[in-house]
Amino acid sequence: MSALAFPAPALPCLPVLGGQAGFPVHRIYCVGRNFADHAREMGAPVERGTPTIFMKPADAAWLAADVPYPPGTADLHHEVEMVLALGRDAGGPIRREEALEFVYAHGVGLDLTRRDLQAVAKEKRLPWDVAKGFDASAPVSPLRPVAGHGHPGPDTVLSLEVNGELRQRSTLGEMLFGVEDILVHLSGLFRLRAGDLVFMGTPAGVAALQRGDRFHARLEGVAELAGRIV
Ligand code: MN
Repeated sequence: MSALAFPAPALPCLPVLGGQAGFPVHRIYCVGRNFADHAREMGAPVERGTPTIFMKPADAAWLAADVPYPPGTADLHHEVEMVLALGRDAGGPIRREEALEFVYAHGVGLDLTRRDLQAVAKEKRLPWDVAKGFDASAPVSPLRPVAGHGHPGPDTVLSLEVNGELRQRSTLGEMLFGVEDILVHLSGLFRLRAGDLVFMGTPAGVAALQRGDRFHARLEGVAELAGRIV
């Protein structure tokens, strides 16, 4: 059977720096509470037990500089995060020693959050989908390939300015779970595929965004994302 009832929607395709080929997005995994200072500011326990994982739809990836303010919230928050872009399929659980080989590129993104709806979900022990998985909830930068650039080290600065004011700043070494930890964990739960993105969690300083705000996210020496809430 080859006919489609309607044309298949196009996948988001992220630009890759220094190359012609784009990166077609398969899934978006996100790590919650991966910086101790952010877990603390959210009133969550700081623990290195099991990583907190949630997902956004693949088509939540947003490439345009103008990011629409979503409906249904009065408290849209920014969370600046390193983004891993996977370039290989994993048949099943992977070993820690091979985990980095699955990372094709790095970027920086915003895990946009309807904080008011998330607070209700937490209070009622309900899922986070409406707080996290809405349209355009994952603005992401062009990707920097590992080939020729390597993996960013623990001193690499992750930061976000809003309207020229520094809101969030930390280093990758402050993550509770590193890249290998997260990929090993995810691979035991899901079949990782080339095209998957992993948002690695945010440091302290999350706060509200308003229409008209200009944001500038940076993963030092790797990737930048600048845009505006409209
Ligand atoms: Mn986040």
